Amino acid sequence: MALEPAAGPAKGRTLVRNIGLMFSGDVDRPLLDADAIVVEDGRIAAIGRLAELRGRGPFDQEIFAHECAVAPGLIDSHVHPVFGDWTPRQNQIGWVESFLHGGVTTMVSAGEVHLPGRPKDIVGLKALAITAQRAFSLARPAGVKVIAGAPILEQGMVEADFAELAAAGVTLLGEVGLGSVKAGYEAREMVAWARKYGIQSTIHTGGPSIPGSGLIDKDTVLEADADIIGHINGGHTSLSEAHVCELCERSTRAIEIVHNGNERVAIAAVQAARDLGVLGRVILGTDSPAGSGVQPLGILRLISLLSSVGGIPAAQAIGLATGNTARIRNLDGGLLEVGRAADLMFFDRAQHSAGRDLLHSIELGDIPGIGMVMIDGTVRAGRSRNTPPADRVPQIIGA
Ligand SMILES: [Zn+2]
Repeated sequence: MALEPAAGPAKGRTLVRNIGLMFSGDVDRPLLDADAIVVEDGRIAAIGRLAELRGRGPFDQEIFAHECAVAPGLIDSHVHPVFGDWTPRQNQIGWVESFLHGGVTTMVSAGEVHLPGRPKDIVGLKALAITAQRAFSLARPAGVKVIAGAPILEQGMVEADFAELAAAGVTLLGEVGLGSVKAGYEAREMVAWARKYGIQSTIHTGGPSIPGSGLIDKDTVLEADADIIGHINGGHTSLSEAHVCELCERSTRAIEIVHNGNERVAIAAVQAARDLGVLGRVILGTDSPAGSGVQPLGILRLISLLSSVGGIPAAQAIGLATGNTARIRNLDGGLLEVGRAADLMFFDRAQHSAGRDLLHSIELGDIPGIGMVMIDGTVRAGRSRNTPPADRVPQIIGA
């Protein structure tokens, strides 16, 4: 199990060239007219045509993409980490590294709820959140950026608790509704305190996940007004399609669709967002580890589902899991733009897909094959051990 310290980004200059298709991560303009990227000290320094970018050398390294596609690394907006690369939920180690092989370069905690003996008293829950935030900042499993330290709201918390958490570096709340704060009016007050101190909130939506958690209905979601309507398609048990569509329409907050939710309602939610012209509010997560398991390819599977069954063009579906999440959650990667972190997924049509090319294969319901994953300019994985094999994979050709 590789637990790597969050060392600084890669030093030096890399030229990535012969890219066949480049995804911006932006749902409004999902494809870029470019075939090369210059990465400098872990950040994107230039995007354009090879003929123009060649002159920016010398380069310490070149990556020859063999005409495969490049997109921003995927962001899983909803995970439940505990510590390191271990999850007690299904007694697994190495789960984050497995997600890296599914193209995920950043994941966001919706609460470290699976910790055995998770403290529910206020000093204990604050201590856990601060510890988790510190631990994942100081040691990235397999290089993956895990944004963690997401406390679960309990009754009795006061404004000063949120100020203290924010001052200590906590930027997120765990899913509202998983603790003793379940009523809309109570949640609303705490969510507002969190927002005042720059802490982003997510609310659990739908029926109880496991025995012990509770129902959060649409009126509670609207009243609490958290920044993110967490797993709007349930985790697993969903509200009715009518109520989910009503949430998309009446709330202005982010619409989070998860792999471990109700798939039929996932389709209804993304189509409601599309029809309302608010696809920019849709973000994707797995909601794993969970009772239904740990899905290294969960984000790719969700992209494929929303595209093939939901009718969202594949290039836009990729934007839901990259640029949208980066913008809504203020993350550094997620978009291919100069100045952003060089978190890149190299991928292509899976071998023997019936699709005529990468985009068509996703729109037919296949998942693509990953050939390489880069985080902060460092190559963290080569050909994925988890996806089907990609037609074409990139090659590092040295200086
Ligand atoms: Zn939940």
